[in-house]
Amino acid sequence: MTQYVYDFEHGDKDQKDLLGGKGANLAEMTKLGLPVPPGFTITTEACRAYLAQGQAPAELGVQVTKELRLLEQKMGRRLGNSEDPLLVSVRSGAKFSMPGMMETVLNIGLNDDSVEGLARVGGDDRFAWDSYRRLIQMFGATVMHIDSSKFAEALDRKKQEHGAKTDPELSVDGLKELVDEYKEIVREETGRDFPQWPREQLDMAIIAVFKSWNTERARLYRRRERIPHDLGTAVNVCTMVFGNMGESSGTGVAFTRDPSTGHAGHYGDYLINAQGEDVVAGIRNTMSLADMGDHHPEPFKQLEANLRLLETHYRDLCDVEFTVERGKLWMLQTRVGKRTANAAFRIAGQLVDEQLITMDEALERVTGEQLVQLMFPQLDPNGERTLVTKGMAASPGAAVGKVVFDSAAAVEQAAQGEDVLLVRRETNPDDLSGMIASRGILTARGGKTSHAAVVARGMGRTCVCGAEELTIDPVAKTITVGGKTYGEGDWMSIDGATGEVFEGRLEVVPSPVMRYLEEGLEAGIEGQDDETVELVRAVDRILTHADSVRRLQVRTNADTAEDSQRARQLGAQGIGLCRTEHMFLGDRRVLIERMILAKEEGEKQAALDALLPLQRQDFVEMLEAMDGLPMTVRLLDPPLHEFLPDLTELSVKVAVAEAKGESDQHDTELLEAVRKQHESNPMLGLRGVRLGLTVKGLFALQVRALAEAAAIRKQAGGDPRPEVMVPLVGSINELDLIRDESEQIIRTVAEEKGVELSMPIGTMIELPRAALTSERIAESADFFSFGTNDLTQTTWGFSRDDVEAAFFNNYMDKGVFTVSPFETLDQTGVGRLVKLGAEGGRKGNPDIHLGVCGEHGGDPQSIHFFHGVGLDYVSCSPFRVPVARLEAGRATV
Ligand code: ADP
Ligand code: MG
Ligand code: MG
Repeated sequence: MTQYVYDFEHGDKDQKDLLGGKGANLAEMTKLGLPVPPGFTITTEACRAYLAQGQAPAELGVQVTKELRLLEQKMGRRLGNSEDPLLVSVRSGAKFSMPGMMETVLNIGLNDDSVEGLARVGGDDRFAWDSYRRLIQMFGATVMHIDSSKFAEALDRKKQEHGAKTDPELSVDGLKELVDEYKEIVREETGRDFPQWPREQLDMAIIAVFKSWNTERARLYRRRERIPHDLGTAVNVCTMVFGNMGESSGTGVAFTRDPSTGHAGHYGDYLINAQGEDVVAGIRNTMSLADMGDHHPEPFKQLEANLRLLETHYRDLCDVEFTVERGKLWMLQTRVGKRTANAAFRIAGQLVDEQLITMDEALERVTGEQLVQLMFPQLDPNGERTLVTKGMAASPGAAVGKVVFDSAAAVEQAAQGEDVLLVRRETNPDDLSGMIASRGILTARGGKTSHAAVVARGMGRTCVCGAEELTIDPVAKTITVGGKTYGEGDWMSIDGATGEVFEGRLEVVPSPVMRYLEEGLEAGIEGQDDETVELVRAVDRILTHADSVRRLQVRTNADTAEDSQRARQLGAQGIGLCRTEHMFLGDRRVLIERMILAKEEGEKQAALDALLPLQRQDFVEMLEAMDGLPMTVRLLDPPLHEFLPDLTELSVKVAVAEAKGESDQHDTELLEAVRKQHESNPMLGLRGVRLGLTVKGLFALQVRALAEAAAIRKQAGGDPRPEVMVPLVGSINELDLIRDESEQIIRTVAEEKGVELSMPIGTMIELPRAALTSERIAESADFFSFGTNDLTQTTWGFSRDDVEAAFFNNYMDKGVFTVSPFETLDQTGVGRLVKLGAEGGRKGNPDIHLGVCGEHGGDPQSIHFFHGVGLDYVSCSPFRVPVARLEAGRATV
């Protein structure tokens, strides 16, 4: 026979699957000998059975009866007995804490008779009747699904009638009348009486907890938190103890350390003569735990001892709920407590110092996302603020600046030393210079994966996107919101961690952790208070430990010497992806244009020749910044039309000119070229290696520029380590053609310059066919770099630029996926191709080096996966480098 019911005395903290978090920890505390009111837990398995069959398993009722009798025997009282009633609480408790679920029902077992018994035994009428009205109220709302405002209104009316300002002022007579009115509400709303039979109350409450697993808000919460829908919840039946039995009683919550700052030492709130949720509900002012010591010294001393015991036992920050009934302390709940990023690092450091955990375990107590939060500057929390609107928290940090409406203005004003905030309806690749020049970016459209958001995160620039209430008029240069208008030059402040937009110029507080990461420990702790010093030291120790245990190397994606330098400071061990397309934008765009428009070879070669020294100089600077470390350069990837004007705009321009009889030869030719380059599916079109094999001389130019740059660095006594990476390869034949040509060029340059050049040549694996034929491709590749952005795009058949805005939110609501596959790697699908590609690669070439570039390289969950499939490195944007270092370390423990 399946056992569905477990006494608190039979279970432990490792049985969360079966007993839920609350039940498992109640059992653990009981085992530790802490004063837990006796009770029992009904398993998640019983809940699953109920949900599957629509009724409780037949044996459940029998098992509950047996446990209840044992409980009654232990307590020497019977449930709802009219002389001396045993009362219980019925508490939900899933494996993961879920605030979206049913609330607890207290005081089960009270009825018209037992309330009198409770009053006699407790020697307090008021307390008994208050408990009864709470039962009907909670039971009515959560078990019988009556709108809770009905009860709240009745309570307010009653208080008014009796001239009571607060709940505790309501007299016994008032409470008795209220109970009658509550019972009347139950009758009216449900067509039945409030159940008087205690066991019926208990059974109804248990079933209600089972059902609460599938309420709309519980489902919503699970989707958001990525909790599976098939776990079910446990139900805890726990003997009631009363914190509302007068002045020697009370109830509170406590933490073994401060969960918001990480400050060592117990911390909490206490309320005298109160029950259950009163503390959290904030109805009355609570006192601190220290003050509790003055009022109730004995239970306080015991509580302190228990907190210490729990922390030693769990070896982590614990939070507890407790109640004091007439001087006796009862422990009602404990769990390993949630904490802020700040507290997480400090506490992990403290626990290592106290030799409660090892450094490996310290790694498990913090996350990359917590580190991110510590890296960004923040708006001064003490400053005065006027909220304008709220958008999406796209890239954290604080940005304060004067509003500008286009990139040109941003660049111009920033050059004059102004702090500017770029405000756009949405951004596009042309806004890059403006985004770089700005303190932060604010857009009215687009989600967390919009261009603005992705680019801003990559640069570590603060960004709030999708602030839909804003009406942005870039021509009139105004922002209108809620009847107010702001113009160019007005100060605004945005908080990228919350999405909040404020009026005016708020103070920004820099992050000492960032200073530490960029400039070292001394700089990070200089001039800081003790708590901050402790934080920075903890981050340093933990990150250093992560570096010492991780197997994955961490490289960066960088296209400029400046980014390379910064990434190197942040711990990057090379460049995993240098995109060359940015080197063809700006002033150089005309050269590309000239190359595309060229009618004859000579003209085309001239354009390419003009590009060569420019590109070479970019590489020289980057190789210098990355001296001694590998630098993987990706040959040109995007379709050429990205370097040409927009088809529609140009068509209009040409048509207008023609109508005026002022047609321009260049524009007309350009339009023809743009038409020719036009593709309906550019992402699946002429790009990557296809471009290299079609546009003669293009890749050759890039390889030559890189080889010559390396030669220059060598001659200057440097240690350049360039690598050539071919994008979008699907077949070994493509790679072979480029490889042959490249090797030829490298040899020639080496001879010309009289230096030795070794330049590994590898390929991206970003098409399913490349992953499937990786064993073959590896024969011609020195390395693979998994381009998981395109691999996701091509595996799912999603056009990244279109689908996210079109239906991803809907997909997430419907649970098709819980997170965008462009954010966190789809391990079951795309991940399978990565695994296959890696295995094939190693078979085809045992010396092959395997890495990953793209957004996933900086995503914690994805990093753990890449570690698992045995890649050699991940590459991510400079600001994600510390995160990747930490997560790569965490992946090993
Ligand atoms: P939650 O998961 O929302 O914290 P709980 O089951 O812990 O719900 O209960 C809510 C409140 O009721 C808590 O403050 C708890 O201390 C109190 N409570 C629960 N069971 C009992 C009990 N047997 N005796 C006294 N108070 C209780
Ligand atoms: Mg609660
Ligand atoms: Mg609780």
